[in-house]
Amino acid sequence: MIEYVIDAPRAPFLNVDGDSRQFPIRRVFCVGRNYSDHAREMGHDPDREPPFFFTKPADAVVSNPDVIAYPPLTEDLHHEVELVVAIGKDGVNISPEQALEHVWGYGVGIDLTRRDIQAQAKKMGRPWDWSKGFDESAPCSALQPVCRVGHPGNGTVWLKVNGEERQRGDLADQIWSVADVISYASRAVALKAGDLILTGTPAGVGALQVGDKVEAGIDGVGELTFSIGKTALGIEA
Ligand code: MN
Repeated sequence: MIEYVIDAPRAPFLNVDGDSRQFPIRRVFCVGRNYSDHAREMGHDPDREPPFFFTKPADAVVSNPDVIAYPPLTEDLHHEVELVVAIGKDGVNISPEQALEHVWGYGVGIDLTRRDIQAQAKKMGRPWDWSKGFDESAPCSALQPVCRVGHPGNGTVWLKVNGEERQRGDLADQIWSVADVISYASRAVALKAGDLILTGTPAGVGALQVGDKVEAGIDGVGELTFSIGKTALGIEA
């Protein structure tokens, strides 16, 4: 048995719908610009360039939160609703045809983004980490196992702020399907059980304010609701 010199951190996890057990999270990969309408709104040509990835720390994921604290260092916190793929089986160099065999389940997640920091990073050629990988930057719904929901190839992806619809797209409009995304990722790293992949957001991303109520969902997968709280790290928003 390994002995640690400090208390070992608890493994991050996601709730599983209808199950008292949890899904342990290993790593979090995110796909950029996977819907053409969002690529366009961010000023890019939506032609089928290969998918690109960035990461968030595993403990940025918050399972079914009630409140997410408004993070520091930003005045432009954006919502991006995304299909979350939970990997349940290790694999490298996975073919698109076999990729779905590696999926344990699906959920709904928000890729919270400090857009002003991201814009500065793009301009200065700096990494995206501080714009994407901050505390509580990936609130997620409970996962649904594949044995219950199958592999959703279509379904409305939506997000409302204070009851008003901001984002609406369809899984069928993803530039790279879940199978393609898994295949590409597994050629760059060895995918492992416990890895999550956030698969990109449709158009309509926008700013959140303290006190906002966020509701989001994907037909056939799930929903989540939370509000934006006042502070993080004791810093007033
Ligand atoms: Mn995103």
